[in-house]
Amino acid sequence: MTHKEKADLLLRQQYHCSQALFGAFAEDFGLDLETAFKISTCFGAGMRLGDICGCISASLMVLGLAFGFYDPQDRELEMYGNQKTREFLEKFKERMNGEITCREILAHDITTTEGMRVIKQAGLILKACPCPIHHSIDILEEMLAELKTEVNRNTDNEDKWMLENLTDQEELQELRKQSSKKHRFRRNVGNLIFSSRKPIAFIQFDIRRFKIINDLYGERYGDEVLYFIRNQLKKLCNDQQYFLNVRSDVFLVVTEFETEGELLQFVHRVDEAITDFKNVQLQFSYGIYIVEDKNMERRQMEDRAAMARKAAKENVISNIVFYQSQFKELLYSRKFIEEGMQAAIDEHQFKMYLQPKFSIAQNKIVGAEALVRWIHPDRGMIYPNEFIPILEENGFIRQVDYFIWREAAEFIKRCGQNGISDCPVSVNVSRIHLQDNVCQEVLKEVIAQSGIPKELLELEITETVNDQQISRKAYELKEDGYRLLMDDFGSGYSSLNILLETPFDVIKLDKKFIENMMLSEKGKLILEQVATMAQKLELGLLAEGVETAEQVEVLRGIGCDLVQGYYYAKPMPVEDFFLLLKDSRGV
Ligand code: C2E
Ligand code: CA
Ligand code: CA
Repeated sequence: MTHKEKADLLLRQQYHCSQALFGAFAEDFGLDLETAFKISTCFGAGMRLGDICGCISASLMVLGLAFGFYDPQDRELEMYGNQKTREFLEKFKERMNGEITCREILAHDITTTEGMRVIKQAGLILKACPCPIHHSIDILEEMLAELKTEVNRNTDNEDKWMLENLTDQEELQELRKQSSKKHRFRRNVGNLIFSSRKPIAFIQFDIRRFKIINDLYGERYGDEVLYFIRNQLKKLCNDQQYFLNVRSDVFLVVTEFETEGELLQFVHRVDEAITDFKNVQLQFSYGIYIVEDKNMERRQMEDRAAMARKAAKENVISNIVFYQSQFKELLYSRKFIEEGMQAAIDEHQFKMYLQPKFSIAQNKIVGAEALVRWIHPDRGMIYPNEFIPILEENGFIRQVDYFIWREAAEFIKRCGQNGISDCPVSVNVSRIHLQDNVCQEVLKEVIAQSGIPKELLELEITETVNDQQISRKAYELKEDGYRLLMDDFGSGYSSLNILLETPFDVIKLDKKFIENMMLSEKGKLILEQVATMAQKLELGLLAEGVETAEQVEVLRGIGCDLVQGYYYAKPMPVEDFFLLLKDSRGV
């Protein structure tokens, strides 16, 4: 039976117009008729007292079931619902030629006994009411159909494929279920944020080149992939971790965590669980936002995770990116950086700074790290964190690295000419170089041109997700005779495996790692074990970012002799370092 047939039947059975209309839709939303009648009778009567046609009240209730909000945090849905209400009223008014009160429709006053007597006597209800009821039904059916296409466009492909096989009624219920899934997710997340004492992370991810996958393997495969991901997430998430398939291939996971390392491990676990489906390798981009202010609107938290995900998409080096407050500025300044980078090379705006490395025991400079600075003619000094991520994405970092390697080699040569041959300088090797063999060629040329001993130009490589790639490159560079430093050890990706598989000479303990470990006795024990392990493996150990005397004491205590950090000296221009070094060597 159609909605109109149902409503007409109910009207003939002497139900009120609001009951007839609401009753015609009730079952679509899983409401039993009796409840529907009870709700609409008083509500409709109340509206009619205000002389408003009962079809309007009933229609608004139907709209409420379809578009209403019940999570006060979900302002978006609230606004959407309000908009739909206005839309209905406008359409209704238009189709009824402006007649929206009972008085206008029935040409009598229903609030007086006299009016009601005439209406009944003349059978006006059965004559006049079907018209507004039918118009209402037309409008509601249009709006619900629109909702269906919208949800279809916005939600999981898998559901789309499932929806194909459902009747209209089942379909509506299914759509309602999906919308309540969203609500449940938001409510759970709200509870988690306010009840958890641990930090909370929003992790948003999507499939790289999902469109191409759909084209290559067919939409059905694409749908199955999404279904597979949802199932894997179901298995991976505990009852304090929530996920939502936001739309198409975009997923959101909200979780509490103890340390950033643990959080990254979780992301890797997710990645491993979903990366391979029916022998197709899938790649994902993950954006992470760590909640700082619990009172921030949740929409905004989601937006920030989304922003980080987009940044991860563009990043050729890492598929996991944390939201940074500079993201908005970064987006703004990306153009600035990309437009200025070639001139920066040509006009020597990039400068090498050197940060001394000290031996605690000998209390003397034992080396330096070369760090790039961009001295911009208008903006002054720009720090690497501001421009390196962008240069890594567009590949220009190669030029910068080559430049710094040359400068470092020149500096080492100059030291040699001044009788200082025991001050190695380490340079950073961006992860981008791991992908090809050009860097070996460039290094060869740099060494040949400067004529310095290879082992004085040390190479710092940062651990990444891809251990194998590093190991391969590390063996090649080791074979060529370079000393290798593992940068940022403990900053997140750390696996001890890499020490086994990769021929590093020195481990550089990350600043944050040291700070975290020094917070507790347990942590200090771990630090001590790392030092012991380094000793047994005959690896050098250097602590980075050392800022306090207390840190120096702890490091001395565990036998970590090499340090680099503001406590001793900040990165400085080459000339300053040269003077300092000469001074310390007494030359
Ligand atoms: P990194 O390789 O981990 O370098 C150490 C960073 O820690 C440097 O920041 C240094 O200035 C800073 N630092 C040193 N001691 C302390 C301390 O006691 N306290 C604090 N708060 N910070 C300290 P910088 O120079 O801003 O470099 C940031 C990152 O940019 C570097 O991290 C490195 O990953 C990258 N980078 C710098 N120069 C180059 C380069 O020439 N090529 C490449 N590929 N990357 C570079
Ligand atoms: Ca470094
Ligand atoms: Ca480092």
